[in-house]
Amino acid sequence: MIRVGIGYDSHRFVAGRALVLGGVTVPHPYGLAGHSDADAVAHALTDAILGAAAAGDIGRLFPDTDPRWKDADSLELLGSAHEVVRRRGLAFRQADLTIITEQPKLGPHLAAMAERLAGRLGVAAGDINLKAKTNEGMGFIGRGEGLAVLAVATLEAR
Ligand code: MG
Repeated sequence: MIRVGIGYDSHRFVAGRALVLGGVTVPHPYGLAGHSDADAVAHALTDAILGAAAAGDIGRLFPDTDPRWKDADSLELLGSAHEVVRRRGLAFRQADLTIITEQPKLGPHLAAMAERLAGRLGVAAGDINLKAKTNEGMGFIGRGEGLAVLAVATLEAR
C-alpha cells in the first residue's frame, strides 16, 4: 500500500540570518525569517511525510510558540516527523521537491541537499529529487521577498 502526501512552505527573506535549505547553508546576503532555522525545504518535506500518514502537520507537531523549537535544526524536526510515521507502521520511500526562488541560483547545491535529507530519512540520495526554478519575476517570489517550496512524498506500509 502506497500513501502520498503533499507539502508546501514559504518564508520571507531577511538580513542577518544564514540561508539554510535542505540542511545546507547556501551563501546569500539574506536568510529566511522563522522561529526555527526556517529551512523551508525541510519543512515542506516534513509536511508531505506527515500528510501521507494523515498525521497532521509540522505546526501541530512543533508549535512555533514552543521555545524548544527556537532556532531549531529543521532536519531534527524532519527526523522526529519520520519517527512519528514509522511508529504508525509506515516507511518513507521517496520525495520530489520544487524550490521556487529568483535568487540565489540553487542548482549547484541540490545534490548536497538531497544527501542531507536522504541521510536523515535513511534512504539513498537518489530517492530525493530536488528541482529549483524562478517565478519568472511574478508576485512575492518574483520581487525577491521570499521563497516557496512544494514537496510530494510517498510512504509504504512496512
Ligand atoms: Mg516553515
